[in-house]
Amino acid sequence: MKIKTFYIKTFGCQMNERDSEIMAQSLGKFGYQPGTDLYEADLVILNTCSIRAKAEQKVMSLLGYLRKAKTKNPAMRICVAGCVAQQEGGRIIKRMPHVDLVIGTQNIYKIGTLIEEVETTGKQIVTSLEDDYVIPHVLPEIAITKSNDSSMDDSIAPPAYAKFVTIMQGCNNYCTYCVVPYTRGREVSRKNNDIVDEVKVLVRSGVKEITLLGQNVNSYGRTNKVSDSATYNFSNLLRDVSQVEGLERLRFTTSNPKDLTDELMQCFKDIKNLCPQFHLPVQSGSNAILKKMNRKYSVEQYFDHVEHLREYCPEIALTTDVIIGFPGEKDEDFDATMKLLNDVRFHGSFSFKYSDRPGTVASTFEGKVEEIVKSERLAIFQKRQDKISLSRNQEYVGTIKRILIERCGKDGCRGRTDTNHIVHLENCSELKGGEMIDAKISHAGQHSLQGVTSK
Ligand code: SF4
Repeated sequence: MKIKTFYIKTFGCQMNERDSEIMAQSLGKFGYQPGTDLYEADLVILNTCSIRAKAEQKVMSLLGYLRKAKTKNPAMRICVAGCVAQQEGGRIIKRMPHVDLVIGTQNIYKIGTLIEEVETTGKQIVTSLEDDYVIPHVLPEIAITKSNDSSMDDSIAPPAYAKFVTIMQGCNNYCTYCVVPYTRGREVSRKNNDIVDEVKVLVRSGVKEITLLGQNVNSYGRTNKVSDSATYNFSNLLRDVSQVEGLERLRFTTSNPKDLTDELMQCFKDIKNLCPQFHLPVQSGSNAILKKMNRKYSVEQYFDHVEHLREYCPEIALTTDVIIGFPGEKDEDFDATMKLLNDVRFHGSFSFKYSDRPGTVASTFEGKVEEIVKSERLAIFQKRQDKISLSRNQEYVGTIKRILIERCGKDGCRGRTDTNHIVHLENCSELKGGEMIDAKISHAGQHSLQGVTSK
């Protein structure tokens, strides 16, 4: 019997990366094996992101190329998964009739069954969001043999010794620019014991670092019961997961500042394996723009959080997200964002030009900022951030840092500090992926560090 192969191309965030892993595991049970060539696979899955127009355009253009591959090999099955699939649904099949399956974010666990249904009926399938969705409890089956899974998009697959664990799906916040509440549905949290069990399995398999994932982890447990205790929250979950024997490092992402509590910040002081690193998206330094974004916090509250976090954990490395050129953003609003950047001095940031996303409230706003103005402001912001990142990184030169090795090759090894900085090691021929070693930081660049070890 011919073994069928699959290839998953993942776009977007870590949630999508984790969803791709879940689909890969599910397909294994249906006789599929990972392939290495997108155009030669029996089943191609594009796990899509609709947060920015560019990512969506890339998917559509890739689907165009896949039409030719399917003409050559009509048995090829093409699946569009993820946020674009959820948002566009049947419209994808109308535009791209060679697509066999459009599978939304909640239905990834059923991919094997759905593909089987496509094979037996010969019909195209489009799934939809469920009102009473419960995240299925599926324990991971992993064997760590190499850094990256070749059937996954090679640029963003997580290193083998660091894994993501989804703790919740969806979001109830309705920030005016964001599609997530429409593409991932209402917020649902997983049971605490399911999460701890999954972490135990991963750590037993050799994983050293876990990142807990959700659109807004700070509100974990608020919309559905996750444990016997009615007050169980994200801080409780962090404390429970941190105690899994053998877990070296614990991280989480992402957090909405409006839900950040002192109880959570205290965890950075108390939990030894919780990494001193926090991604806290601010989006804008202007209160007027934050209000239009429906973020429900002020710049002053954000500064308070930063101050408290640094009190609880002085070495914490802070990163953020910023949207440049939101509708109505005036020069003074952008100046306020620059002031915030200069005052907080983030270790790093992800900054993007605002783009209208279909179906969002912000797409109907007046006062759209001209493209050229957005580009100029983005360049100013990024140039300043690069300088700050360099100066922040230079503070590490001469210090000893514990590094988790991700991969080693002819050109040296690469690993990460607990603050999530990439470190390239110069003299490390005997190191293996997953090993933890001390290195002296010898050089700092804008985006990474260099280090030397005695090994
Ligand atoms: S908190 Fe806002 S930006 Fe984040 S996922 Fe929810 S709606 Fe989107």
